[in-house]
Amino acid sequence: MAVLVFAESDNGKYKKSSFEAISYGRDLADQLSTSCIAVSIGDKGPENLGQYGAHQEINVQGDVYKTFNPNTYAKTISELSSNIDGQIIILSQTYTGKSIAPLIAIKQEAALVTGIIGMANTSEGFQVKTTAFSNKAVAHIQINQAKKILSIIPNSYQVNTYDSTSEVISHNINISQEDVNTNIVKTEKEIGKIPLTEAELVISAGRGLKSAENWNLVEDLAEALGAATACSKPVSDMEWRPHSEHVGQTGITIKPNLYIAAGISGAIQHLAGVSSSKVICVINTDPEAPFFKAADYGIVGDAFDILPRLTKRISEIKG
Ligand SMILES: Cc1cc2nc3c(=O)[nH]c(=O)nc-3n(C[C@H](O)[C@H](O)[C@H](O)COP(=O)(O)OP(=O)(O)OC[C@H]3O[C@@H](n4cnc5c(N)ncnc54)[C@H](O)[C@@H]3O)c2cc1C
Repeated sequence: MAVLVFAESDNGKYKKSSFEAISYGRDLADQLSTSCIAVSIGDKGPENLGQYGAHQEINVQGDVYKTFNPNTYAKTISELSSNIDGQIIILSQTYTGKSIAPLIAIKQEAALVTGIIGMANTSEGFQVKTTAFSNKAVAHIQINQAKKILSIIPNSYQVNTYDSTSEVISHNINISQEDVNTNIVKTEKEIGKIPLTEAELVISAGRGLKSAENWNLVEDLAEALGAATACSKPVSDMEWRPHSEHVGQTGITIKPNLYIAAGISGAIQHLAGVSSSKVICVINTDPEAPFFKAADYGIVGDAFDILPRLTKRISEIKG
């Protein structure tokens, strides 16, 4: 039996969350006295995954992976897991991870646990820790099924480094037309933007910014900080910002090191997606805004005044 970790890459670049997943997989494999095998698909990153803990790396190549399709990725990981007796499959809970984990679970008849935020406890059975009730509680889940799929929230586990390299084995999987029940006709990629789920710094704004035209204040600060941008639900509903930036209960869950929220009230549905951020800084004109209760730092003030001042000061410090 082995621990199999999907090392997700995009255009020949590994995601940081892949290194977290491998570190998680290796620590778990050490606990279970087994090996940690990383699987990369298509154009992988340049790093040797042994330096993050993989004992071995399998790289699967083929024209079929040129465009991401959940069916082909799920079939590939599932088949490899059967070949190497990968009883535990670990993925990062990115958009890709979210779309393939349930498909692999069906193929493998495995137990799937998503939203994992800590190392499994294998001293008595197999228990994992996940967020619950919109981040208001932590659930300890006992998995009784032999085959397990664990999906780890990005930024929830540290990246370990090792002074070693692993052997990289090239592999092919036979994918037939029957394996693919959807075809991606066209994809449009946002270029040059920091992906929200990966970002360590996020600057977010809400209805307090008054209109889409004022978002240059948010973008300027994001650029100065090297941060990703996010927004509250009404902002994306009114199409001031794209839905891909909507965080919260019905949007994306993020866990950056710093979350700056300007002109957002802090409704529970919003907090559900951001309250696990390591440091939260809130800018709001209303001292009674609920968000201040969840904040590490609070600025009672006008976003139209504070945001440009923050941008100017950060640019001065950096410059
Ligand atoms: C089932 C359900 C699911 C939901 N899911 C989500 C979700 O996933 N994400 C989400 O965000 N919401 C979600 N909502 C909506 C949520 O309840 C709130 O309505 C929403 O988060 C409010 O957005 P807001 O804070 O941007 O706007 P508002 O509530 O209008 O707050 C604006 C804030 O800006 C402040 N402000 C005004 N002017 C300024 C200024 N010049 N400078 C600084 N501050 C200023 C105000 O004091 C106020 O606190 C959901 C609701 C439901 C019912």
